[in-house]
Amino acid sequence: MISTNIAIINKQVQEACNKVDRTSSEVNLVAVSKNKSVDEIMVAHQTGQRIFGENRVQELMKKFPMVPNDIEWHLIGHLQTNKVKYIIDKVALIHSLDSFKLAEEINKRAELIGRQIAVLIQVNVAKEDTKFGLEKNQVIDFLEEVKDLSFLKVKGLMTIAPEVDKPEEVRPVFRELKNLFRQIDEMKIPSIEMQQLSMGMTGDFQIAVEEGATLIRVGSGVFGERQY
Ligand SMILES: *Cc1c(COP(=O)(O)O)cnc(C)c1O
Repeated sequence: MISTNIAIINKQVQEACNKVDRTSSEVNLVAVSKNKSVDEIMVAHQTGQRIFGENRVQELMKKFPMVPNDIEWHLIGHLQTNKVKYIIDKVALIHSLDSFKLAEEINKRAELIGRQIAVLIQVNVAKEDTKFGLEKNQVIDFLEEVKDLSFLKVKGLMTIAPEVDKPEEVRPVFRELKNLFRQIDEMKIPSIEMQQLSMGMTGDFQIAVEEGATLIRVGSGVFGERQY
């Protein structure tokens, strides 16, 4: 049951926050609705869930006109430059900025619609070949490159942790991202804000919250297993 699932997740977030003396209002659930129907999104919406994440542009575009407009859409998957134009006026946050070319395109399209677009930089902390994202040691140079793109608003960092048997094994990955986040924050780079740390999925979001996540991206934990 989707409503029960969401209640359980919220409770687990609360427990993780208690463990490390955080306030649970700092942590927001992104309900990852990929491969799930509009009806299922509506059930989650009825429980008060407002932030939804999709990893594919086409799927987001299809669902967008079919749901209430108080939904805040997040694009969480790899974004191709030629698809930016389709989602630029639909998303509240892009979690997956991973190249300068993409940054330029988002900036250009954002200028055309006359509003800044919030983005997170995707970091491939564990250097997995199968994952997109900058390497940790590239992020600061990258920020220097994009900081003058005035319609692009960098709001933080995102990572997808490796798949492991025990969630505890990914704690160092989350901790490294948090340390980088802090380091960047302390640099006070003009126009770069470190507000959001997007990390943690169904299997590991409690650990991510303990390590400082402000956005957790939970799919199967909310909607049940995906059928492909
Ligand atoms: C699918 C997906 C998620 C959610 O995965 P679950 O394990 O179902 O919670 C989170 N982040 C990204 C980028 C995804 O593609």
